[in-house]
Amino acid sequence: GMILAQSLARLGTESAFTVLARAQALAAGGRDIVNLGIGQPDFPTPPHIVEAGVRALRDGHHGYTPANGIPALREAVAADLHARHGAEVDPGCVVVVPGGKPTMFFAGLMFGEPGAEIMYPDPGFPIYKSVIDYSGARAVPYPLHEETGFAFDAEAVLARITPATRLIILNSPANPTGGVTPREEVDRLVAGLADHPQVAVLSDEIYSRMLYGGRDHVSLLQYPEIRDRLILLDGWSKTYAMTGWRLGYAVWPESLVPHVTRLCINDHSCVNAAAQHAGIAALTGPQDAVDGMMRAFDARRRVIVSRLNALPGVRCTDPGGAFYAFANIQGTGMSAGEAQDRFLEEAGVAAIAGTSFGVEGAGFLRFSYANSIEAIEEAMTRIGALL
Ligand code: PLP
Repeated sequence: GMILAQSLARLGTESAFTVLARAQALAAGGRDIVNLGIGQPDFPTPPHIVEAGVRALRDGHHGYTPANGIPALREAVAADLHARHGAEVDPGCVVVVPGGKPTMFFAGLMFGEPGAEIMYPDPGFPIYKSVIDYSGARAVPYPLHEETGFAFDAEAVLARITPATRLIILNSPANPTGGVTPREEVDRLVAGLADHPQVAVLSDEIYSRMLYGGRDHVSLLQYPEIRDRLILLDGWSKTYAMTGWRLGYAVWPESLVPHVTRLCINDHSCVNAAAQHAGIAALTGPQDAVDGMMRAFDARRRVIVSRLNALPGVRCTDPGGAFYAFANIQGTGMSAGEAQDRFLEEAGVAAIAGTSFGVEGAGFLRFSYANSIEAIEEAMTRIGALL
């Protein structure tokens, strides 16, 4: 038979897609499934953005664009980052890629190899550990705790740095917990990194527009002392409800731009031209649709957190951002995997076992509240009956 590379065995996956497939199979068989599993906005892309994509196709934008993205799009990204974070960004350091994930993959390939260490949050987005493992580097988790609202602890991160550490992955607001790291903690981390000039930072800020309760987003772009080793990841998928368009970007240190551009040329040549034009419209057009979606997420957040806390054996800390509630289900006597399976098979509610996001996720279940209030209420009623 065929002989495959051993590295393939190290590549992980995202269980949200497996649970989605099972939920869809049950639904196709006639079951009424409430899906609080998948992490994508349930809203359509705002119409003026769709229109810009369609217009780009009609206007003949059918060919390759520059590998790092259309200049007008990279300029719009730089202007947006300046407006939102007060940071000066050179459009030449913005590299547009097909979604949020390619930046993780490319950073993993750029820094990771046997002998190197890369740090990642646990619980965290599963693709971080997957790409680190794939690169051959040692994946070093730093734990996030319920008691601190799943914010990272700068001391815990700094304490895990060794001479082999090359990259630290940060994510706030976070998947799967909705945790938001306060500014003092980021200040402490950046101050500590002064002693480790070889360590780069990948800050995944894909949920930077999704903060609640008057919280402000703290961007790593606001720390000039680490700009020469910061990779800032953001994109359109969550903010503009554009997960299927495959559009994202990162701001790279100037020294790394030629390397990531070569990775783009080797991998995908450039991002779909029409999607890039839609991306310009998203950033430069009216933002009221985004504001409306964020208000809806906030209302849903309040409903799901109070309903979860009213379930027997369940408690849930207040998530400050993103659209996830990470509920502690230890009091139900079920493991995370068992709860995931029983909620789906017996109650028709899709949610994701916390263990899909790391060892620290044992005893937790991630609920995405990117669904209607009615669906959330129905899911909570069904789980209440099951419990
Ligand atoms: N980063 C985090 C923390 C995410 O939760 C996700 C999607 O779930 C992504 C990045 C990937 O986004 P995209 O679909 O744009 O690749």
